[in-house]
Amino acid sequence: MNTLVCLDRDGTLICEDKYHLGSQKDWKKKVKIIPHVIKGIKELNKIKNLKIYMITNQPGVAVKEFKLLTNKKADEVCRYVVNKFKQKGAKIHGYYFCPHASKEFAKSHPQYPFDKSKLDQCNCMKPKSGMIQKALKHSKLKNPNIYVAGDRCTDVEAALKMKGSGVLIPFKTEPGQRAKTKKLKGKAFIKKNFSEFVKLIKNDQKNN
Ligand SMILES: [Mg+2]
Ligand SMILES: [Zn+2]
Repeated sequence: MNTLVCLDRDGTLICEDKYHLGSQKDWKKKVKIIPHVIKGIKELNKIKNLKIYMITNQPGVAVKEFKLLTNKKADEVCRYVVNKFKQKGAKIHGYYFCPHASKEFAKSHPQYPFDKSKLDQCNCMKPKSGMIQKALKHSKLKNPNIYVAGDRCTDVEAALKMKGSGVLIPFKTEPGQRAKTKKLKGKAFIKKNFSEFVKLIKNDQKNN
């Protein structure tokens, strides 16, 4: 059995920073791993033919005001996060980030001046599934069971688009996601923490 696990970054692996991580000079100090996650990834690492990718929307790259948060910096932040996990013995096999913002996103965040050239309709901004598709291709896993965990309903929706299981792990900075997720049809789940998400995967493995 092959398994592909895609994990959101902000509010799921590390504490949320509202898409600004990398816009400040001291961003490294702000990277704080959420409890249960290291242990959970280590457990997932023990499962055969399972690969883990971090997938993250970073529309802050498209905000003109965040001069330091370039594509290159967003990439550096992702690499830093993945390495931090690696140092603690938790292996993440790769990462993808979306540096775009949708027009709707810009509209709902009027406090930020967006770079209009980056307001494309890309295929990677979650709830779209472009980053999962990239991870799938890179993983070389054949017809894997797909899981996506995140702190927003859009993470769950992205999973459902790939006929995978979407798991909401609510985080304090994203209220209202529970109610939205409950309305989804299909393999949409809500778990209280990362350990519970890992349990769900392990149970599926047993039953297969
Ligand atoms: Mg998030
Ligand atoms: Zn994108």
